[in-house]
Amino acid sequence: MEGIDILRQIGRGSYGSVWLARRQSDDRNLVLKSVDLSHLTSEQEESARQEVHILAGLKHPNIVSYKESFEQDHHLYLLMTYCEGGDLFTKIRHQNGALIPEQQIVRWLIQITMALQYLHGHSILHRDLKTQNIFLTRSGLVKLGDFGIAKVLNSSLDMATTLIGTPYYMSPELFAGIPYSYKSDIWSLGCCLYELTTLKHAFQAHDIAALVCRITRGKVDGIPPGYTFDLKDLINSLMSHTPDLRPSASQVLQKSFIREHIASFL
Ligand code: ADP
Ligand code: MG
Repeated sequence: MEGIDILRQIGRGSYGSVWLARRQSDDRNLVLKSVDLSHLTSEQEESARQEVHILAGLKHPNIVSYKESFEQDHHLYLLMTYCEGGDLFTKIRHQNGALIPEQQIVRWLIQITMALQYLHGHSILHRDLKTQNIFLTRSGLVKLGDFGIAKVLNSSLDMATTLIGTPYYMSPELFAGIPYSYKSDIWSLGCCLYELTTLKHAFQAHDIAALVCRITRGKVDGIPPGYTFDLKDLINSLMSHTPDLRPSASQVLQKSFIREHIASFL
């Protein structure tokens, strides 16, 4: 590949691999996501191109920034900014059980919610919001990435009917055949926040049937003492069984304890 040195593999994608690369012109580290198009159905190929298409149109400080894309030898390549801090899932594993301070969690929450507010404001559903798809920069910012199954909603009737995403983070209405909505992303945000406070998945089971059962029942273990009522209450509302009862991204950012946080770093 001209102008780019491949350094090492940093991830394994659902359709390809993720590499750390260095751009020769400025020695900058970038991430190269490659998708082997040769074995894909035309639908899968379409979806791979969709990721590039969606990401290329987004510009937000809390969304992984797109650099360029190209196709070569039946592969689709996507170049984007490298987030040196890795993903939040790995970060949680490295805590070895030590709880993450609320200040830190809220700072991340605000940034992820801002990214979601931006996406939803542009009629885009992420549909795969999970700690493995939230990246940390060297300076501690968080950026939402992996738009592999994101979708532009053209109208409220445009249904995203297939069951997609990671089952751990799937909202109960999806199992009832109700189409994916903004509020399904909000549910997943609640699951991420739950994971950041408890260091474990909100719902876990040995097989899909048991997982579906758990999610539908909606009962989760309590959040550790030490976190404020405001934060626990927010997690509960994000994970409301009824989608309409979940706040929108903008409503989350309007909460007074969140606004106080935002004001404190201005
Ligand atoms: P997939 O569709 O395979 O889940 P992702 O975009 O989530 O693709 O990438 C897979 C993994 O590669 C991530 O979980 C993360 O560990 C790593 N990764 C991807 N993009 C970046 C990035 N911009 N910065 C740092 N790590 C990344
Ligand atoms: Mg991913």
